[in-house]
Amino acid sequence: MTSDQRMLGAVRAAARTAVLDAWAVLMPTQCSGCGTPDRALCAACVSALRAEPRAVYREDLTIWSAVEYSGVVSRVLVAYKDGGRTDAAPALAAALRQAVGAALVAADPAQTPGGVVLVTVPSSRRAWRARGFHPVDLLLGRAGLRGSALLRPCAGVADQVGLGRQQRLDNRSGTLAATRPLAGSRIVLVDDIVTTGATLLEARRALRQAGGEVIGAATVAETRRLHPDIHRSRETD
Ligand SMILES: [Zn+2]
Repeated sequence: MTSDQRMLGAVRAAARTAVLDAWAVLMPTQCSGCGTPDRALCAACVSALRAEPRAVYREDLTIWSAVEYSGVVSRVLVAYKDGGRTDAAPALAAALRQAVGAALVAADPAQTPGGVVLVTVPSSRRAWRARGFHPVDLLLGRAGLRGSALLRPCAGVADQVGLGRQQRLDNRSGTLAATRPLAGSRIVLVDDIVTTGATLLEARRALRQAGGEVIGAATVAETRRLHPDIHRSRETD
């Protein structure tokens, strides 16, 4: 074999790999919840993501959460956020929409002219670089809702992984700031997962400091047992 033929073979192999990679992204061959072949998200895993919103509490913040963060839900969320499996977005968005709806009903937005603003937590720079998208904003969009970017990170956030609840709260304090004065704004915070609540409570602190009123929060999932799977919860993001 000549060196030209070898080079051509290498180029063809690389092209073939690139095509297969692209195909795998376009047409996932395994369910991201259970690994069943040939389905993006199988019917059983879609039904595991069916929302049953319930109110949970972190300090005095009421959080409406659609599903429990465990098993299928945690695998689908991790694959969606960090494994490129955005094919799970419709099912996750449907769950988030239910949670947001429950939070809005509970807060009775009809009483407020101008309504309620949905606010998401900004991605860290590192998370943004790694993903190229904001997981919660994408879900809100899929749900036909819109988040307002009223928060910005104002300091480097140390990684939350492996920290206890109080450490997470301390670690988070002062890391977010509002982007503008918010007097008169009624706000529902929206995030993907609530574990200790450190992220949502810090978001509320920053919004309140700017004069906003946080009337509740909504998340796709809640870790109902405290710290069950904290290494995969990615609450920092
Ligand atoms: Zn499945």
